[in-house]
Amino acid sequence: MIVSRRDHSPGLATVLVGDDPASHVYVANKRKACEAVGIRSIHHEPAADVAQGELIEIVRRLNADPEVDGILVQLPLPAALDRDAVLAEISPGKDVDGLTPVSSGLLAQGRIGVAEALELELDAPPLGLVPCTPAGVVELLSRSGVELAGAEAVIVGRSNLVGRPLVSLLLNADATVTACHSQTRDLGAVCRRADVLVAAVGRPRMIPAGWIKPGATVIDVGMNRTQGRLVGDVDFDSAAEVAGRITPVPGGVGPMTIAMLLANTVRAAR
Ligand code: NDP
Repeated sequence: MIVSRRDHSPGLATVLVGDDPASHVYVANKRKACEAVGIRSIHHEPAADVAQGELIEIVRRLNADPEVDGILVQLPLPAALDRDAVLAEISPGKDVDGLTPVSSGLLAQGRIGVAEALELELDAPPLGLVPCTPAGVVELLSRSGVELAGAEAVIVGRSNLVGRPLVSLLLNADATVTACHSQTRDLGAVCRRADVLVAAVGRPRMIPAGWIKPGATVIDVGMNRTQGRLVGDVDFDSAAEVAGRITPVPGGVGPMTIAMLLANTVRAAR
């Protein structure tokens, strides 16, 4: 059951477990962005040693709270907790991160396309909510006029958070999609086929210019902290000489992820 009042500004509940410094920064940025657009922020910060049952109880209370329209459990959770079991507790109608089995299933079945993932379709009935980072990637592609139908899209990374939902989104947009991972043979040759290349690995600058087809669109999802700097998975400076379009890190996909979270929260409230 979805419990939500219709006569208030949207409310986003964030649940941040533990002391991971990067997660604290991400959640602070998300809450700040909410405040800037008039989305109410409800925040829970259980200790790193919170029991699984206690965390699930928090999620259930948020499910039942009419003041809460969206629930975001910041990942990663401490290793002792069962991430999938916690995410599965989130009511699908409040699943603004799009990570519950219901949201993932709708996307994987092709029942959510690019239009539903885009801000342009904010008024569309929310059949399901799309994970924020992949939604941000398709929004960038769409607003940049990149033709996806028939395009060769290569995604490096197959996580539930980024790679897999992006495979579904691009497939639903009629691209020909290849998903690469740590066991892919001759990754460079596969990447060189791509009209649209998405890097979501988490290895600083691992994709060199030589893996990029001239004129290709390159989306760098990677966020790696090295020597106090944030760098992507793509070697930006050399890749920019070859690519037709390329997103920077920071300042590319990261802000889009937050924008999509706000859009999903408004959608969930509606
Ligand atoms: P995961 O660690 O969950 O997944 C990484 C993926 O990369 C896995 O599928 C893994 O393969 C693959 N991989 C690892 N090494 C190689 C390799 N040498 N060659 C090919 N594939 C490889 O990471 P996430 O998906 O959660 O995140 C990926 C990156 O995106 C990170 O840098 C993260 O910080 C960033 N990120 C950025 C966001 C943003 O808002 N900009 C949001 C979320 C993430 P296998 O499955 O075989 O292990």
